[in-house]
This record gives sequence, C-alpha cells and structure tokens, in this order.
Amino acid sequence: MGWTTVLQRKSAQKLARRNTSSRSFRERLGDYLASLNSVLAFPSYGYETADGKLFIPTQRQLFREFFSGLNVFSDRRKWVGFFSWASNLAFGIPLALFLIYHFSFPLLLAAFVYSMIILGTHGTIWYHRYSTHRGYRFAHPIFRFITKNLVVKIIVEEAYVVSHHVHHLMSEQPGDPYNVHGGWWYCFLADVNHQAVAKDLPRAQYERVAQMLDHTGIRLNSYEQYQRWGSIAHPLRTLAHFALNWGFWYAVFYLIGGHGLALALFGSCGIWAMGVRTFNYDGHGGGKDKRQDGIDFNRRDLSINQLWPGLVTGEWHNNHHLYPNGARAGFLSHQLDYAWYYIWALWKVGAVSSVRDPKAEFLRNHYAPWLAKKAADKQRALTPLEAS
Ligand SMILES: [Zn+2]
Ligand SMILES: [Zn+2]
Repeated sequence: MGWTTVLQRKSAQKLARRNTSSRSFRERLGDYLASLNSVLAFPSYGYETADGKLFIPTQRQLFREFFSGLNVFSDRRKWVGFFSWASNLAFGIPLALFLIYHFSFPLLLAAFVYSMIILGTHGTIWYHRYSTHRGYRFAHPIFRFITKNLVVKIIVEEAYVVSHHVHHLMSEQPGDPYNVHGGWWYCFLADVNHQAVAKDLPRAQYERVAQMLDHTGIRLNSYEQYQRWGSIAHPLRTLAHFALNWGFWYAVFYLIGGHGLALALFGSCGIWAMGVRTFNYDGHGGGKDKRQDGIDFNRRDLSINQLWPGLVTGEWHNNHHLYPNGARAGFLSHQLDYAWYYIWALWKVGAVSSVRDPKAEFLRNHYAPWLAKKAADKQRALTPLEAS
C-alpha cells in the first residue's frame, strides 16, 4: 500500500469517526486532512516495504540521509534543517566557555532548571499546545509575542508544527515522522530526515500548509518565496528573529548574573536542544508496551505518561494523545502541568481569551469508570461465595 493510499484511508476513517452532519465542517476537515497528504519531504529510503510494513532503515542509511539533508550547498531549500543543527550546535560554544572559565555548582543548578523546566515547559506552551494544537487563543498579539519570546529561541516553528500534525494523524504507522518503531536514531535524526516541508507542493496545497502557521505571528512566504527557499518562513527573517532574541536574552542574563550566568544558561540550551530530540522515542515507550492500567488510558498507540517529562514540562504524552487539542495534559492529582498553570494564569488575567481544558471530560469518561470498575473487581474478590 502506498503512502498516499495509507493517508487517504486514515483520512476517510477519521472523517467517518466524526460522522458529522455539518457540511462546512466536513469540508474544512477534508481540506485540512488533504493538506496533510504528503506535506513532508519524502526520505530517499521511503516509509514502507513492498508489503506495506514500516521500512526500518539501517543506521548507515539514516546518517547518509541526515548529512544529505544538511547540505545547503547542494540545495538552498534544505536551509531549515541546516539552520536548526547549526544554531543548536552553536550553543556548544557558551557551554564550553562556561565549563572552562565560569563553572560553579549554583550556576550548574541554574542551567539545569533553565533547560529542564523553563525551556521544556515553554516548548509545551508555545510549540506544542499553541502553535500546533491551538489549545488556547491569545487576547492580543502582544501576549503572543511575549509568550513566543519568553525563552532563548531554539526551534524553527515550521520544523515542529507541520510534522507534528502528521505524527498525530499517522502515529506509529509508516509515514509517522518520528515513528518509535523505526528506532532511536530514526527519531533522533527525524527533524532533518523526515520533518522538512515537501519542496514541490502545488500552490493551493502550499497555501493550506502555510496556514498551519498563520496564527503564530510568523510572516508566511509567498508561493514564489516558497519555491525559492522550500520553506514557510523566510531564512533572513528567521535569522533576524533568532539574533534579536539571543541578543536580548544574553543581555538580560548578563545584567542579572554576568557572563557566568549568561554562558551557563545559553550552554544549557544546547543540552535541551539535543535532549528534546529523544522525547518522541521515549514518549512512545521506546517501541515497547509500557502503558499502565489506571495511568495510561489512551490505548490507540504506545504513548505513555512518563513521570519526569510530565513533572517538569507538563508533557503527559498518553493524556495528550487522548486529548491532543487541549491546553492542559495533567489530569490526575500527581500530574503537575506548569504549561497549563502559565496558560491558566494568562487566561485569568485576560491575556488569553479562550482555553480548551479536557480534564473534566477525562475524569468523567475515563477515570471515573475505571475507579468504578476497580471497586467492583475488589468487591467481587472479597465476596467470592456470594458472587457464585
Ligand atoms: Zn506522540
Ligand atoms: Zn501533539
């Protein structure tokens, strides 16, 4: 079965599941799903074997694809992947300077908190819940601007957003850009190998794909610019955004704690940039079924609610796959969700105009029935004679 056929079948299944009578909604959903159809550049090794199973490339194939994907000299339209890795690796410079000249344990602790909690939570707030899933809305663009630039800039929006829609549509099937069954390297190198926007989209489809980012405040390329640069954002504007953001934050950190603090925090950005690439593999159990009763209620894929990423960033990934469009993913009492606390606080002060909070629905449809079933099982176990 070809890639297009798989997507079309998935799209039809999704449409059938919704079973809506609203024609305009069906049309909009159809447009949206059609826009996902082959929006990402195809890796040279493809996604499927001849009999429709996931093709798992060798490490050699993965690295060859990766280095070819970084080669902007062969094709300028590969700039997003190159820019991502070049800017991520550039954080190695402040990291080295911090370790050699300014190392101290308090600064190490600051770097740890910044990368683990602040950058991680911001990733959830901005790239995941807002830019991709539109789980909430800002009351004014100024609050969007502040939220977007709340931390040192590390990720180019389109590299995250477009492919993440495909991840939800094709989870763990051929075509999922970070399919856990492809292995650790398959996921780790995915931003270059599987997440780039396709370079040959027709005008109407490009415009639909670009609209996935229209709410983020990024100036979208015209079709002619897309044909030249192969991307939704313009490279010069992206470069200017990164430079201004980095300059601003370096100055702020320097004023607070001198070069020591600034180098420590900028260095920690490089650690986070590499760490976040491992999340998609771990968040789906590394391909093993690690789902637990009473914790992981979504059984459609192998995603799990991991304690550490959940606690520090609000990424309760199994909950998230259950309610992908929510502004909240921490539902149970131990499931802290700093990203939700930020969104909730903005909502309370009027900076966010609407939020989608699926917690009540989760408790009603999943948790309460599970508790009731558990209590009934316990009762049956205690009274075996009566039961018989
Ligand atoms: Zn996932
Ligand atoms: Zn998601």
